[in-house]
Amino acid sequence: MNADLGQPITGFALWHLEVPVVSRRDHGVGSVAGACETIVLRLTAEDGTQGFGEAAAWAVFTGSPEASFAALDRYLRPLVVGRPVGHVGAIMAEADRAVAHCTEAKAALETALLDLCGRIAGVPVWALLGGKCRDAIPLSCSLADPDFDADLALVDRLRADGVGTVKLKAGVHGHAFDMMRLERLRQDHPDLAVRVDYNQALGPEDAEARVRDVAALAPDFIEQPVCAGQYALMARLRDAIDVPLLADESVFGPEDMLRAVAEGICDGVSIKIMKAGGLARAQRVAETAADAGLTAYGGDMFETGLAHLAGVHMIAATPAIMLGCEFYQARYYLAEDILDAPFPVRDGAVEVPDAPGLGIAPAPDALARFARHSMAKATA
Ligand SMILES: [Mg+2]
Repeated sequence: MNADLGQPITGFALWHLEVPVVSRRDHGVGSVAGACETIVLRLTAEDGTQGFGEAAAWAVFTGSPEASFAALDRYLRPLVVGRPVGHVGAIMAEADRAVAHCTEAKAALETALLDLCGRIAGVPVWALLGGKCRDAIPLSCSLADPDFDADLALVDRLRADGVGTVKLKAGVHGHAFDMMRLERLRQDHPDLAVRVDYNQALGPEDAEARVRDVAALAPDFIEQPVCAGQYALMARLRDAIDVPLLADESVFGPEDMLRAVAEGICDGVSIKIMKAGGLARAQRVAETAADAGLTAYGGDMFETGLAHLAGVHMIAATPAIMLGCEFYQARYYLAEDILDAPFPVRDGAVEVPDAPGLGIAPAPDALARFARHSMAKATA
């Protein structure tokens, strides 16, 4: 293959997808049922090679899918079409200045650029991010179904598949329900690692008492009990409990991570390319956390296997992300994924692809079937 990274990018196409999901999920910040929405970007090089990226936006968490679509279509497209395939760093620096926030759109853009470069150069995306430090990433699956019996059935399936970690979404249906579920998991599955994530659900008046109760059942960690901006309260809660406190919504990019370290709000962090604004910035979050002695895992949004793959390659090249990943949606939450081959999970871990680019591409018929008619736009 002629690895011509100087050839121009000639195609920029977008899809706004509605991908059906198998159940309702209630999180502290909001609920998802029926389908999740996400944006897919396809870049095409002059030689016809294609690269894909996903902007998985959740309106209550990072931003809206409409904003991601508009950021890509109106503000980022002009930075990309006609530019050399290999100019990833320059394009991403310009993207940061072209539109504020819209971190999911920037993650999609960087993913598609790296996928394109990797496919043309014949190397996997992890090789473009510093090289591989692991071949597999342990998988954790979140439990957020208001029907706990359904979640218990999911746990049985997860255990049969070798998954050894679950995360209980808490703070939505009352403290008693949370404690009952945690106690039941402890009793029925004593060797299962359990994490607890509040997604900002608790108020300052009851947060300390509730996290103390939960900490007494010794989960691996408690994540983001209170609002993203309540740094001082996060620091107090961290001091009040013996189990690690993790930040998610409080830390989007490297700048937040620096402040989180300075103010001592957490023992670890959930790292997501959709929060950080790309794969390289997510690596910077991880390195900043590690330099301060904090742990990290790779989180996801409501997304397809395409965004999972971007996270997999990022984590594969980031030693500081030690606590595995939560890329469970493609396998355990979507009614049908959009990839043209199964998202690679084996024995409870995600396998890191070694094929060029992301290793797997979306199936064109899936993009067509899940496209929202009113927003679907695919231009070559
Ligand atoms: Mg979280």
